[in-house]
Amino acid sequence: MNTTIADRLSIAQSRINQAAQKCSRMPDEIKLLAVSKTKPISDIIEAYRAGQRLFGENYVQEGEQKITTLRAEYSDIEWHFIGPLQSNKTKIVAQHFDWMHTLSREKIAQRLNDQRPAHQAPLQVCIQVNISQEDTKSGIDAEDVIALATKINQMPQLTLRGVMAIPTATDDIQVQQDEFGKLQRIYQQLQQHFDNIDTLSMGMSADLDVAIANGSTMVRIGSAIFGERS
Ligand SMILES: *Cc1c(COP(=O)(O)O)cnc(C)c1O
Repeated sequence: MNTTIADRLSIAQSRINQAAQKCSRMPDEIKLLAVSKTKPISDIIEAYRAGQRLFGENYVQEGEQKITTLRAEYSDIEWHFIGPLQSNKTKIVAQHFDWMHTLSREKIAQRLNDQRPAHQAPLQVCIQVNISQEDTKSGIDAEDVIALATKINQMPQLTLRGVMAIPTATDDIQVQQDEFGKLQRIYQQLQQHFDNIDTLSMGMSADLDVAIANGSTMVRIGSAIFGERS
């Protein structure tokens, strides 16, 4: 690509603005999470200089390394963990990240709560819901969300902020619409039961418009900003 990261960030932002306009939402209700997994620290700094503050990482050790390198000088970056997390790696997430989007088990929630250092702000979490029509194992079933949310809500070092999903990879707008509509209903249900619920983490490059039309408050975009991953 001949364009710079700054160019591609501004293209992503205008796509968000246009999608918001189409459904009469305010663009600033929708945050852009720049997914920097596998990309070098220099790319993150370049995005930062263009104004980007929210970054998403998928791999625990890679994220830890980037955060410890950048924390002092770029202290206003908000670091989001968006990958699968095994219980033997929870401590790294608890100690370094600001947000965790992929929480779907009570055991992991309890470990993150116990391992979050007392002097740090609570870890901000989203419950990952399995809304996909594909047979994937990531995320909790829709009918179990409230029960898990109730447990998380009792953990002082976690703050539940909303829900996240990775939908079926498809160009079929109707399937996208059904899945995002389902996650939005779960989100609204959580808002009725709990305080602080303001995050509906859904939508990537290919399904941005449908996600925003269905209430997304945070879209996660990687390769369209940083280039294809090898
Ligand atoms: C990698 C990833 C993204 C971004 O994907 P791109 O295709 O690079 O835009 C978004 N969300 C999650 C959970 C991811 O793992």
